[in-house]
Amino acid sequence: MKILVVGAGVLGLTTAFNLVEDGHDVTIVDKTGPYAKASSRSFAWINANHKLPAEYHLLNRAGIAAHDEFQKRFADHGTWFHQHGCVMFDSTPDKSSGLDERFTESAELEYPVERIDSDRLRELEPAVSWPTDSGLLFPLEAHLDNEAFGSLVEGFLEEADVVPEVAEVVRVETNVDGTSVEFADGSTRIFDQVIIAAGADSGMIADRSGLLLPVADLSQPGPRTHSLLGVTAPTDVNLNRIIISDKINVRPRSDGSMFVQIPSVEARTEEGENPELLDEVQTVMEAELESLFGQHIPVDKVIFSGRSFPEDGLSIVGYLDEHHRAYSLVTHSGMTMAALLGRLVADEVRGDASQLLDVFRPSRFAEGVTPESPTNFIGRQ
Ligand SMILES: Cc1cc2nc3c(=O)[nH]c(=O)nc-3n(C[C@H](O)[C@H](O)[C@H](O)COP(=O)(O)OP(=O)(O)OC[C@H]3O[C@@H](n4cnc5c(N)ncnc54)[C@H](O)[C@@H]3O)c2cc1C
Repeated sequence: MKILVVGAGVLGLTTAFNLVEDGHDVTIVDKTGPYAKASSRSFAWINANHKLPAEYHLLNRAGIAAHDEFQKRFADHGTWFHQHGCVMFDSTPDKSSGLDERFTESAELEYPVERIDSDRLRELEPAVSWPTDSGLLFPLEAHLDNEAFGSLVEGFLEEADVVPEVAEVVRVETNVDGTSVEFADGSTRIFDQVIIAAGADSGMIADRSGLLLPVADLSQPGPRTHSLLGVTAPTDVNLNRIIISDKINVRPRSDGSMFVQIPSVEARTEEGENPELLDEVQTVMEAELESLFGQHIPVDKVIFSGRSFPEDGLSIVGYLDEHHRAYSLVTHSGMTMAALLGRLVADEVRGDASQLLDVFRPSRFAEGVTPESPTNFIGRQ
């Protein structure tokens, strides 16, 4: 089949890769270029932690397994999936950040979790000055070198002569025979199917096409749709795994730097991106890093980053039109599920519908949209 993938973020790339493997004639376009948006600014914690309902937890969990398989399959290309687990701690005096609830919830879902004491905390991460004597370890969880993963998949596509074109899709029109796609340069091209994996802009493309795909509008920033992501300078601090807490979320990067998020400043995304905010957040990040590692670690930049956020908080995966010509692939857990969803979309294009996706179909919005408004999204990405 002749298939267009719209968007060369992590989801568009993995989808194109699987479609090429299945022998389709694939074109992939991006209005800016590969990895221009959320995929390049992602904390990339690979997890199924507190991702509810149970169907969403299972989908994310399958996402972790798919990354593991992908890493093993292409092990001779390097290591980008670091499955060293995630340590979670609560520094509040009254232990109010909900770790006990997370433990119970995870145990009920049979999601591996261990209570760990101060000796184990020190053994796992000797470089950390732990502000607590207990925590949780989620051994299945991982961090992904998001740039390395994207480059790898893009490289595989290039080997198959599929190179992302810089082109902007305006709208699509489907009929029983195929899809006519209108581009911003005024051209129109015909495909058998179109996969809309344009992140936060997917809703806009669907809207212009008369299709229903409710994705949050990024023009009204806030903690649901935006996050403040810090990137430190490379450091000699030896951090092995992701740490998530009420004070700071931090994880290592392959060049020795770290990604940082601070739960208490996320609400300030409502102020919109401005230099004063970024400077203030940088100062808070450096203070929290110093408190965690006992040394000054410079934060090189703070990125005001937009998420692709389906209005009800759950992934939107499936056909948008009655002719099964336009397919949507939008989720805010895209890093966790990229290796999985790319494969499932290709299976569905072949006609093998996945039960894992049953509750994530776009058709659920036919009855109306119930927006999710988490007060603090961080720690659930
Ligand atoms: C700060 C932050 C932290 C995050 N942390 C995590 C995490 O810890 N774990 C996790 O699983 N996920 C996390 N995410 C979410 C994850 O990064 C995203 O779900 C994922 O990157 C989405 O990938 P995507 O390919 O759908 O979108 P994107 O990466 O946004 O790619 C979409 C592409 O479509 C292109 N495009 C848009 N409109 C058009 C058009 N009209 N025509 C052609 N091209 C178009 C854009 O240029 C863009 O390159 C985080 C996100 C952010 C921002």
